Amino acid sequence: LLDLGPIERWTRTTCGYCGVGCTLDVATRGQDVVTVRPAMDGSVNRGHACAKGRFAHGFVHSPDRLRTPLVRRNGRLAESTWDEALDLVADHLRRIPDPDRFAVISSARATNEENYLIQKFARVVLGTNNVDNCARLCHAPSAAGLAATFGLGGGTNSFEDLDDCDAILLAGANPTDAHPVVGSRLLQRTLDGARLIVVDPRRTSLARHADVHLAPRPGTNVAVFNGLAHLLIRDDLIDPDFLRTRATGYEALRELADAYPPEQVEKLSGVPAADLTAAAHLYGEANTPAIFYGLGITEHRYGTDGVRTLANLAVLCGAVGTETGGGVNPLRGQNNVQGASDMGALPDLLPGYQKVTDDEARDRFDTSWQARLPSTPGLRIPQMFDAARAGELDVLWVVGEDVLATDPNTAAVRGALDACPLVICNDLFLSSTAAAADVVLPVASWLEKDGTFVNFDRRFQRVRQVLVPPDGVRTDFAVFAEVARRLGRDLGCETSAAALDECASLAPHFAGLSHRRLEAGALHWPVAPGGDGTPTLYRDGFATPDRRAHLAARPYLPTETEPSPEYPFLLVTGRRAEHYNAGGMTRRTPSVGLRTKESLDVAPGDAACLGLEEGAFVEVTSASGSTVLPVTITDEVTAGEMFAGFHFPGAGVNELTSSVTDDPTSCPEYKLTAVRVRRIAPP
Ligand code: SF4
Repeated sequence: LLDLGPIERWTRTTCGYCGVGCTLDVATRGQDVVTVRPAMDGSVNRGHACAKGRFAHGFVHSPDRLRTPLVRRNGRLAESTWDEALDLVADHLRRIPDPDRFAVISSARATNEENYLIQKFARVVLGTNNVDNCARLCHAPSAAGLAATFGLGGGTNSFEDLDDCDAILLAGANPTDAHPVVGSRLLQRTLDGARLIVVDPRRTSLARHADVHLAPRPGTNVAVFNGLAHLLIRDDLIDPDFLRTRATGYEALRELADAYPPEQVEKLSGVPAADLTAAAHLYGEANTPAIFYGLGITEHRYGTDGVRTLANLAVLCGAVGTETGGGVNPLRGQNNVQGASDMGALPDLLPGYQKVTDDEARDRFDTSWQARLPSTPGLRIPQMFDAARAGELDVLWVVGEDVLATDPNTAAVRGALDACPLVICNDLFLSSTAAAADVVLPVASWLEKDGTFVNFDRRFQRVRQVLVPPDGVRTDFAVFAEVARRLGRDLGCETSAAALDECASLAPHFAGLSHRRLEAGALHWPVAPGGDGTPTLYRDGFATPDRRAHLAARPYLPTETEPSPEYPFLLVTGRRAEHYNAGGMTRRTPSVGLRTKESLDVAPGDAACLGLEEGAFVEVTSASGSTVLPVTITDEVTAGEMFAGFHFPGAGVNELTSSVTDDPTSCPEYKLTAVRVRRIAPP
């Protein structure tokens, strides 16, 4: 064992990286993290953690950590004081009479309590529903699709239910890289005998362990899921009792699915008919099948239809809301992307998914907050950028997101930031977005604050302060409370515990939650007062008005993004194991820095045709822009398709992605960009 030297304190908290929500025990000496251990009794991770959770904490002492506010003067960001920076912000906000000219992008990295306060600030102090969070860019189609099918927008089951599953359908997700503890448990379950179906254009490591790997052409998920529905119905693998008593829409789906025999699906998607048939039988003949899925389903032109047609399969087989169903489980990306939405950092929904258009709900908030809340849904993130470029936005406040690195079509985002008169950015570092802002506020990291996160299976868990924030750094919570005070409003929650108490008093789904109760352990929402939470949803009926699951008859529609002679390859973007999102924290932690740059994954046959060897440099160009990347040759990608991560802002992968979005949710089509590739000399 390593001699770690004296340890002064152990603090139990929740990992601030991905949406798995591992419980970590952090040992500290003074202001230094000595070691991080995954908690053996962690409710999700059971003694496991990945390299990010265990080792990626060095960023807190990075020499380029922001420790003082920055204000743009004469075109350059210059050091300022908190008083000067917050006065400038408050003066600017005070001078703008039209609330619709403000917009706030809240943060999936911030705690629930901070998100609660931020959306309250937007609605009460600014008077606008122009508040959103990055769920817009990842799982908004999950929230919309699952709510339409089952009544609530969260995953249906707890991760523990995986222990009882005998078949797993993993679609559009590579948890080995993006959710490593989930990836390991799925693999373990497979090695223990559960059958595994993987639907993914890439040959991921779990695809190599699958009984059946379906590799559809990007953009054809709906055809594949309708084809699976066709086979479940044709081969009598459905649960007629469940459909008769607990579902609606079967006849319409049966009629639609008629048009998706396996041979037709093979033509549309490239998935061999025999493989599709084998997958339908594996899923349909299982006793307790579970669906897990990720951004490969949602980040598409028809992402909501992808979620709905995938959820159809669980309903057809009675594998959701029952003792024997593993349900439909979205693998949420960021640590608190579920919580940011739960807390109402959304333009159409108040905390607890209460509609801003619902007079009764709004009245309760009006009374509690002593305000008159706006009743019209606000702008979504892509619409905020559109409004800024059109000169219709005066202030954009971005909390903890590097939108210039992570949002699609960088040129369009850059245009929006350039056109907006005041961009405020809260961040730990001078990210590319912070560097383009007019006011930059240095804020605390997940290791330096107190509150709660919600993980991918609706599990509220405590986040505890491990380190004191560096001198000059404040929490997002303190920043918004202080600006409200300067504008003459008291947001009323002095502590993060008080913020969750207030939220619980206004949102029935969270009525039984408090920091005190969470000290005893995690709770899955909905939590009734005094209740133990709801790990598995819908056993007593679905949350739709008629208490039934609603099957969706949605046709496959090809997206506009097709390969062409000008752009002959399809680029898919996603995550790599070692890094996290824009990499602000992981790139500053040498112990997880195994990957130091981004590359373009190219299939061996394509590399040969293009005359590319490993490490060759290429210019990649799409209709949106271009960037330069070195090549990695790998059989993980199919011929005609390529892959790149988005963790290195300098790599410019989102220069390539487009502004195409899913209509119901405005979620971008990150998973499909037509590109061309040209060899160039090393830069
Ligand atoms: Fe953190 Fe996710 Fe890794 Fe768990 S799997 S340690 S939550 S990054």
